[in-house]
Amino acid sequence: MTTKAISLFSGGLDSILAVKVIQDQGISVQGVTFETPFFNARKARETARHIQLPLLVVDITDSHLAMLKAPRYGYGKNMNPCIDCHTLMLSGAGKIMEDTGADFLFTGEVLGQRPMSQTRQSLYIVAKNSGYADYIIRPLSAQLLAETRPEQEGKVNRQQLLALQGRGRKVQMAMAITYGVHYYPPPAGGCLLTDPMFSRRLKDLFSRDPNHAIRDVELLKYGRHFRSGESVKIIVGRNQKDNEALQKLIRDGDTVMSMNQLPGPLVMIPGGGNEEVVKNAARLCVLYSDAPENEEGIVNITRTGQSHLASFSPANRSDAAEWII
Ligand code: SF4
Repeated sequence: MTTKAISLFSGGLDSILAVKVIQDQGISVQGVTFETPFFNARKARETARHIQLPLLVVDITDSHLAMLKAPRYGYGKNMNPCIDCHTLMLSGAGKIMEDTGADFLFTGEVLGQRPMSQTRQSLYIVAKNSGYADYIIRPLSAQLLAETRPEQEGKVNRQQLLALQGRGRKVQMAMAITYGVHYYPPPAGGCLLTDPMFSRRLKDLFSRDPNHAIRDVELLKYGRHFRSGESVKIIVGRNQKDNEALQKLIRDGDTVMSMNQLPGPLVMIPGGGNEEVVKNAARLCVLYSDAPENEEGIVNITRTGQSHLASFSPANRSDAAEWII
């Protein structure tokens, strides 16, 4: 019977090479990748297509958000809970391994490549906490790590696995040439939780609005965000792309405004806001519009289903600096 394995596949070069090393042993590989509002499967989809790897994309937004509020091993430099996030993914991949009758799972991790998440101890912790430690192989560093059950049972030949470690990429690039892999995305990047500005906004959301919905998380990706007093937020599109994205996220009860007959931002107050907040939002709308400097502008405000025009002076830049999140 053919041995079957699940690859926790990010789409980066290391995960491609791990797949190749395992496939070299005649093992059938199914790729699995995860997505949330913070990272998507675009890179994994693209590279899986290039190497003709069947790929399962699983949305783990709910469990990831629950973990993100109180990660057991804390956050990295920003709001990235990498140890707990890896654990969650390995645990998810392990369940798929069981459900599909695969023999083991593997990742493209390289010992010592990342300072926090790929130390010997981190690799050990995430494997153990995932509940599948005996079945997780890191083919690129396997010879430097403890032997796993599939290796002991002869389902995988340990001698044909590698002993890579450290941050260098030379060996991987040479391997890519040998395997005829010409397309692979740059390493890292792509996770909003490692972005300082996004992390600041997320921290603000968690502390000010414990009952937030997924839409509130989605909104963090677009525009400038302000709080001018009460708990509701003012979001100001920075460009056409932001304006269009915010437009799609409008819900009943939001206050929405834009300049009347002048280019400018779409401004949104999720949940509506009181008179004071609406006034501050309108003044921000004028400030970030093409209205002449320091002159009043006419703003089109839609609130509780009713639209009206009103004239406002621009917000002071010092106020905007104080309100911004
Ligand atoms: S960088 Fe983002 S996706 Fe990657 S492990 Fe950390 S939190 Fe998870």
